[in-house]
Amino acid sequence: MNATTRSAIDGDLIENYVNITDYKTNLNQHQINCGDCAKLFYADTATYEGIVRAIEQGLDNPFMCEDCRLEYDELAYGQR
Ligand SMILES: [Zn+2]
Repeated sequence: MNATTRSAIDGDLIENYVNITDYKTNLNQHQINCGDCAKLFYADTATYEGIVRAIEQGLDNPFMCEDCRLEYDELAYGQR
């Protein structure tokens, strides 16, 4: 695995997904499901509102968990 290539291709997604955790914290109180595997995560208010706004604008759930994103990246760039 090459960890350094990933940050370069994350640019077109909302970047503050680092605020999302898979457990509840003082900051992360809002439940959000991964758009792909539907696993439950917790987001802080700003991140949550950004995602809700995107969904309200008719976009699919733009949030993808780390696992799914890694898989997606491999599909998109690894074509094998
Ligand atoms: Zn997922």
